[in-house]
Amino acid sequence: MATRKLYYEDGQQASFTATVLSCTPVEKGYEVILDRTAFYPEGGGQACDLGTLGTAQVLDVQEQGEQVVHLCDCALEAGTCVEGCIQWPHRFDLMQQHTGEHILSGLIFKKYGYQNSGFHVGKDVMEVDFDGPIPPEDLWALEEEANSLIWQNLPVHCYYPAKEELPYIPYRTKRALPWPVRIVEIPGGDICACCGIHVAFTGQVGLIKILSCVSLRGGVRLELVCGQRAYRYMANIFGQNREVSRILSAKMPETAAAVQSLQAHYNEEKYRANALQKKVFDSIAAGYTGQHLAVHFEDGLNGGGVRDLAQAIGQYAAVAVVCSGSDDAVYSICIYSEREDVSAFGKNAIHSLNGRGGGKKEAVQGTVNATKAQIVHYFDALSASTAGAQGE
Ligand SMILES: [Zn+2]
Repeated sequence: MATRKLYYEDGQQASFTATVLSCTPVEKGYEVILDRTAFYPEGGGQACDLGTLGTAQVLDVQEQGEQVVHLCDCALEAGTCVEGCIQWPHRFDLMQQHTGEHILSGLIFKKYGYQNSGFHVGKDVMEVDFDGPIPPEDLWALEEEANSLIWQNLPVHCYYPAKEELPYIPYRTKRALPWPVRIVEIPGGDICACCGIHVAFTGQVGLIKILSCVSLRGGVRLELVCGQRAYRYMANIFGQNREVSRILSAKMPETAAAVQSLQAHYNEEKYRANALQKKVFDSIAAGYTGQHLAVHFEDGLNGGGVRDLAQAIGQYAAVAVVCSGSDDAVYSICIYSEREDVSAFGKNAIHSLNGRGGGKKEAVQGTVNATKAQIVHYFDALSASTAGAQGE
């Protein structure tokens, strides 16, 4: 026996009574079939309703042929009458998202002729795909137009036209659908074949906000939020902006200009700091004039700083070794020369000092797991042996 689908008779019905026709134990619970239900099953990119049937929690709802199957967490006795209660905030959220999608898809179809090629209501945002490109500059006008259809509080009309009437209705989704076809119409907004559930008036959608638009397989994917999701999203963004405004002492509508000015100031300071660092490095480097192997430790440098200082020292000494770090952690190291090929020498040094790294003939860079004393000792011993070899 087909389940009577109360959700199509009245999409605003949150509770109902029904007779249990069957209850079958399955792996995840009990599959309950009723003579009628207001629980909307999963389908068309939309999650199913949740709620209770008598004392049982409804965990999942699926359509199987003509019947709606409720997966429940406990058994219900066949032949008894039960009260069904839909978890309304969840259901209303899905209706807000879905109806908002209709409004926007209808406008996009009217303006560009694009079909909706994918639809998914996720936990936080809804993804809607269209089979053609939308110029980014058009998005905000579309969004505003969609919202104006919400403010007009238009009725969302669902009906089954007669067979001979159907070919004359300019509905989206012109795929061959078996009759009867359910048409959802929002005057001036959308006409679409759809078996989903919708709010009764567009005003209930509340708000539509497009979050992003990316190219996808010759078309686009829009991310959007409607209703309470849109409100919560915008409230969060507002909170973020209020915090930025407080930190920068800028008026809320002027935070972008304040961040731009902060960034310009930051870039200036970075440029100045780099110039100062270059002077300091040159001054350190000059102290190694004429040395063959210069080993220098400097606090607080990152990998880039270690290399810059090694390059500076390499202008005065034949081979420069610069380390920065601490005995408690590791040392960042760079071995640099403009006169000699240091690739083998540098890699040996890093390897001997329990490190990792690599490089080319003019520079080898990495980190070593050794103390300052061990590093100094290693290079001192090398210098002594080189001096000894040269002395022979
Ligand atoms: Zn629909």
